[in-house]
Amino acid sequence: NPLVALWASASGSVGRFTLAKQRIPVGQRAFQASAFAAVISQRLATRRCHWCFVVLRKKALQCGACQFSRYCSRECLDSDAPLHALQCASLLKLRSDGFSDDVDVETVRLALAVLAMEQFVQNATALASLVTRRRRDGNEIDDRKAVQLIVDTMDGRLDRRHVQQTLERVRGNAHPLYLDGVTCVGSGVFPEAAMALNHSCRPNVTPSFDPRARTLAFHAVVEIPRGHAVECAYIELFQTRKRRQTLLSTGFGFDCVCQRCTEEDTKQREDASEEEEEAQAMERLMRLVEAGGNEATQQLARVTDEYQAVFQRSEEAQFALHTAEMRLAGVRRDWTRVIEAADTLLGLWTRCELPDSYPTTETLHQQIYWAAQQAGMSERAKVAAQRVAEIRRVCGYPHPDTPVVLDQEGP
Ligand SMILES: [Zn+2]
Ligand SMILES: [Zn+2]
Ligand SMILES: [Zn+2]
Repeated sequence: NPLVALWASASGSVGRFTLAKQRIPVGQRAFQASAFAAVISQRLATRRCHWCFVVLRKKALQCGACQFSRYCSRECLDSDAPLHALQCASLLKLRSDGFSDDVDVETVRLALAVLAMEQFVQNATALASLVTRRRRDGNEIDDRKAVQLIVDTMDGRLDRRHVQQTLERVRGNAHPLYLDGVTCVGSGVFPEAAMALNHSCRPNVTPSFDPRARTLAFHAVVEIPRGHAVECAYIELFQTRKRRQTLLSTGFGFDCVCQRCTEEDTKQREDASEEEEEAQAMERLMRLVEAGGNEATQQLARVTDEYQAVFQRSEEAQFALHTAEMRLAGVRRDWTRVIEAADTLLGLWTRCELPDSYPTTETLHQQIYWAAQQAGMSERAKVAAQRVAEIRRVCGYPHPDTPVVLDQEGP
């Protein structure tokens, strides 16, 4: 990677970080990492190829033994065969045991894929330098069950402690596989990325997955001056400082001291009763979106009124409110309101000084595009489609999955 250099801090407080060796313009690939292992998401396991992630057609091939792994072609099946052979018995057992939590099954499958790759390349310490993250969410028993399952079903020489550590490494280092701003097809472990890129709540790069090359690229979403740190976001950015800090410390084990967190720290803080009120407002909004329908729309007006003070002081509450508006307007096919709400959300995003081109903004422009199409606002749809295309170019998705096609081309 000629554009960036990896540094280790002498003090040990920041650990490793990556600096731009020269100015990196918007849209340029700053960094790329190869997958050590990548798995299809649990949700898409019956619908997409487990090797190349394309949508399966009728003639898909399936492993007869585990009846879990599916492939679009003989070629993909053959590519995965040596790795799959090492996991097949475990996948069958995993399927029949029916683990409760879907997300965790994906983590277990990713750990299996890592262990299979380690055996395949005969290197059991390939990921030794990655941080581990122990589960502390009350579901630790699932980890013990998973370790037991893997030890029982995989090659007999596997060491229980190593399996446990692999599970913890996967949990601390998995990257989602985004084909574009809205389509996530699974998760993977990319050792070079996991070691090099730190988190910022105002990131300057965003990851994009190339399913054919099985690589994760990080493209600059803002210009990165020479000597500046290259940083991506580990979490959703439209959240308050407090919530981001909580997610990062419980999920990744550090207190974020990024520029955005530092700036927002000096803003007025909420007291306990204000926090409680905000939590209530968010809860109400969430239930309304789940309920949908006309009644929910009327209640939304009531919630907006009742919690006016909350929506005035909290950016996160505003984000939740306008997201709820956008969703409910979509349900009742009020396309003008969908567009208004998405526009408001884009305005909030800009006010937080977050990058114009980012998966979140792509999603919002997609909403505008679809709503404008439905409403027959062809000019608006065209502009939105152009923005989506531009964001995809900047973020560098090589094979976007959700097409943005205009019904009618403008004059
Ligand atoms: Zn395939
Ligand atoms: Zn199988
Ligand atoms: Zn931060």
